Amino acid sequence: MKEIGSAVGRRALVVGLGISGISVALRLSQAGWIPVIVEKHAGRRSGGYFVGLFGTGRAAAERLGILKSMTDRAAPKSVTLDLDRMGHGKPGLGFTDLPGRPWIMLRGDAERAAYAALPEHIEIRFSTVPTAIEQRADAVEVTLTNSLDGTNAIESFDLVVGADGLRSTVRSLAFGPHKQHLKRLNHMIAAFQLAEPLDGIAPQDGATLMEPGRSMWLFPFADQAPTALFSYRTDDVDAEFSEPPAQRIRRVFGSRPLGPILRQAIDELENADEILFDSVEQVNLDSWHDRRVVLIGDAAWCPTLYSGMGLSAALSGAELLGTELERHPEDLELALTSWEKQIRPYMEYYQEIGLRQKAFFTPATYLQILRRRMFIRLQALPIIGKSLLNRRVTGKDGRMKEMDIAAA
Ligand SMILES: Cc1cc2nc3c(=O)[nH]c(=O)nc-3n(C[C@H](O)[C@H](O)[C@H](O)COP(=O)(O)OP(=O)(O)OC[C@H]3O[C@@H](n4cnc5c(N)ncnc54)[C@H](O)[C@@H]3O)c2cc1C
Repeated sequence: MKEIGSAVGRRALVVGLGISGISVALRLSQAGWIPVIVEKHAGRRSGGYFVGLFGTGRAAAERLGILKSMTDRAAPKSVTLDLDRMGHGKPGLGFTDLPGRPWIMLRGDAERAAYAALPEHIEIRFSTVPTAIEQRADAVEVTLTNSLDGTNAIESFDLVVGADGLRSTVRSLAFGPHKQHLKRLNHMIAAFQLAEPLDGIAPQDGATLMEPGRSMWLFPFADQAPTALFSYRTDDVDAEFSEPPAQRIRRVFGSRPLGPILRQAIDELENADEILFDSVEQVNLDSWHDRRVVLIGDAAWCPTLYSGMGLSAALSGAELLGTELERHPEDLELALTSWEKQIRPYMEYYQEIGLRQKAFFTPATYLQILRRRMFIRLQALPIIGKSLLNRRVTGKDGRMKEMDIAAA
């Protein structure tokens, strides 16, 4: 039974059981809504790749009540080596040399913490996807298809939250086809978990291997083997999916001998249980909501892994969405408009960071690699180094990554 002017008893369909979907469902239930989650996969995923959680995300996680279940798994006394193919290493720049003060974890750590906080009574339907969305004045009707038995059911909800990632089905059903909203950065990534540290690199150390238009990264952890990332430029994204990732990466690194580190990393990629191999794309939409449908996380604003802000943005967007719905229980349009107005400047800024930091992850030219090496030298100088370090924290990028969006 719905109470007039209150959220109690209102049903929200949350599509996607990633960090956005889990945190939205958690916050909505705290705000008195009844969330129903659907996830296309048959079960919850775990593990995943390296992610950074910045102050923006920590503030939201704190209010969601899940920060206490997360830990910073950064390896103490870690350095990042700038490797060449022969395996020779000089001091390099790692993820934590970027502006901001991130906690380091796996994507699965954040999802697990949020999932553990979900009340048990929240309904989660696996192997289920939306296949049609029809907006009416008083409700939104969604056709839900069970991919195991092919059955369809039409259900009414007060709100649909599309938290279904970069290639969001909710977005394509309610806002238009992917090609209208996805912007390709002409880069590909392959991310995976190493079974053990690579030979010759201390377990607590990170490493990069930079060549024009292609790079390899090792992200270290305090308590487990590093995760690895290959990132490279391409002119033809569609053609990239024509062969298995390891084969593709071998080809990308060309006919020159790979050397010990690259060879071992690509062999590991070949044998990895779970690989994320995908193109890097951003999402551009003039509005993230339309009547009773709202998009969140990568589905709405994907800033890309190069921004490092996907997790933090997802958490803060989800937490604030619930807060705005709680503040305006009688006016959905006002709640969604107010939510979007507050977070859009930040999400757009994180997208800008993503575009700028692309070259930090994968320099396009030798000149960019030389500039990077010059920066490393400057960082080692006593006075200049201190001022560069200071800028990382006090500069705009650092402030925006650490900002508590809801409080601001
Ligand atoms: C290699 C890599 C490194 C990264 N590093 C960082 C980092 O350092 N810091 C950071 O903050 N972020 C990082 N990110 C980005 C971050 O992981 C994402 O921004 C974040 O996971 C987005 O969460 P999400 O819940 O919005 O989307 P997703 O994680 O994509 O989750 C979407 C969920 O929806 C489900 N789904 C999809 N389609 C449907 C459908 N039709 N019906 C039902 N369910 C569906 C999916 O199965 C999935 O469970 C990185 C990303 C990558 C790939």
